[in-house]
Amino acid sequence: MAKSRFEYVKHFEADDRLLPHCWIVVRVDGKGFTSFAEEHAFEKPNDVRALGLMDKCAREVMQVFDDIRLAYGESDEYSFVFSKTSILYGRRSSKLVSLVTSCFTSSYVRFWAQFFPETELRRTPIFDGRAVCYPTDAILRDYLAWRQADTHINNQYNTCFWALVKSGKSRAEANQALQGTQTAFKNELLYTTFGINYSTLPAIFRKGSVILRTKSSRVVDHLVDGTPVEQETNAPTVCHDDIISNSFWDQHPELLA
Ligand code: ATP
Ligand code: ATP
Ligand code: MG
Ligand code: MG
Ligand code: MG
Ligand code: MG
Repeated sequence: MAKSRFEYVKHFEADDRLLPHCWIVVRVDGKGFTSFAEEHAFEKPNDVRALGLMDKCAREVMQVFDDIRLAYGESDEYSFVFSKTSILYGRRSSKLVSLVTSCFTSSYVRFWAQFFPETELRRTPIFDGRAVCYPTDAILRDYLAWRQADTHINNQYNTCFWALVKSGKSRAEANQALQGTQTAFKNELLYTTFGINYSTLPAIFRKGSVILRTKSSRVVDHLVDGTPVEQETNAPTVCHDDIISNSFWDQHPELLA
């Protein structure tokens, strides 16, 4: 096709291809979810419906983009790990970030009513997105460990904070009582004052959500003689494993291969 004289404007586009042979992580995070959570009466500290919706959106993203190996989510954020060798959209950052973020966001709206049948969606949920390259397996693992450690720190704080608030303290007083305290103090407070054993809280609260592709076979049809026709699937599956420890990676050697 003949080029128009306007074609030259294309050259103003920046080359944003991400480094080859690096892990690409695209992370999305809800904008203003502190007030979004309040407006939609999320249970505190952890609303299981909202976490379920986040996991559903992340599974949808993984179904759309085969090159995503693994995802990790907590609160209003999700990280998607693209394989080192992915050449999807020429590794162009803006393409990957915008597609993952819009897929996630539109899924949030699409599946809202499944998780919040009684709550009207009163605001347009929006998510920011970014892509970061990690050059080695060890640094990728540290990235994921950083997110899961964050989940733990936030959850422990929030569990204490909301226990204090629900027991009658003001938010300011609860915050004051927790200022500068260590893990051991918070565990003790939960146990002695509120009878909560932190380590027995649901794993989804303490560890966040990890999504892996698990191989399984699914019956897709039956032959005339009744023989089932099976198809291998690689369905994204959610678990709440500890991804900081070595044992998780030893159990899933294919993730870093
Ligand atoms: P920003 O736009 O900068 O991301 P934010 O208000 O979204 O601001 P975050 O640091 O992303 O701030 O924190 C997410 C907020 O959403 C927290 O206040 C958290 O308590 C709330 N939130 C997210 N998911 C849940 C949930 N499942 N249950 C209860 N609260 C939640
Ligand atoms: P890519 O993922 O590369 O963007 P694409 O299929 O979306 O692929 P585009 O170059 O973006 O390709 O073209 C948009 C396509 O959508 C065209 O085929 C166009 O005819 C169709 N389309 C978009 N809007 C309309 C519309 N309002 N009515 C009819 N067809 C439309
Ligand atoms: Mg943020
Ligand atoms: Mg946020
Ligand atoms: Mg967040
Ligand atoms: Mg198009």
